[in-house]
Amino acid sequence: MKRLVPVLLLILVCGVALGGGSGSAPSPASCKEPENHKFVVDRLLLYHDSGEYEREIRDVANSARDYLNARVKDAPKEDKLAAVFDIDETSLSNWDALADCGFCSFTVQAKLYSVAHDPAIIPTLELFNFAKSKGVAPFFVTGRPEAARAVTIKSLNDAGYSGWTDLIMRPEGGKQEPARIFKSHQRQLITDKGYRIVFSIGDQASDLAGCCAERTFKLPNPFYLIE
Ligand SMILES: [Mg+2]
Repeated sequence: MKRLVPVLLLILVCGVALGGGSGSAPSPASCKEPENHKFVVDRLLLYHDSGEYEREIRDVANSARDYLNARVKDAPKEDKLAAVFDIDETSLSNWDALADCGFCSFTVQAKLYSVAHDPAIIPTLELFNFAKSKGVAPFFVTGRPEAARAVTIKSLNDAGYSGWTDLIMRPEGGKQEPARIFKSHQRQLITDKGYRIVFSIGDQASDLAGCCAERTFKLPNPFYLIE
């Protein structure tokens, strides 16, 4: 089946005719070559360097702040409210590593964590501090492995994050669930402890799928995909 996928893509992209005879060969004129990687990289750099990326992040963070502000006003005092934050490209930026490796896969650039400088994504840091100021417990739920706990805590502290309620990371070994399953399960466990998750914020759809946030806020990330 895997071998069929490139063939099917060729048919879709190039309009290759099925069947025998001379009409079955792909014509160069009808075959649309995918965009060159350099131009994709250039567009990603422009998206970041123009400030558009940061503007879109701030818009989303502001929406989350507005929702939280309205939500806490209505909350009974006995409610244990929580907010769930992803880390990479949500709370901390790996921009330097991403740009340096030409937007290589997340798996490859993740190896740079130990030497990477991961600055805060400022609108998220402000949202994190706002949540704390309103008595909402902030949780980090990340796909980073337990082996990266020490460097992750250092990066979070260096970036200005403090006072989180828990930092939930992937356990080592065993079957590695897709992010959308792992993160949903971890949010379920947070609610099992009696918390109401007011919102969950992340840069991947897999950060937000499934259980159990009242609202989800999706930050932009055209640089890589985690499913
Ligand atoms: Mg992320």
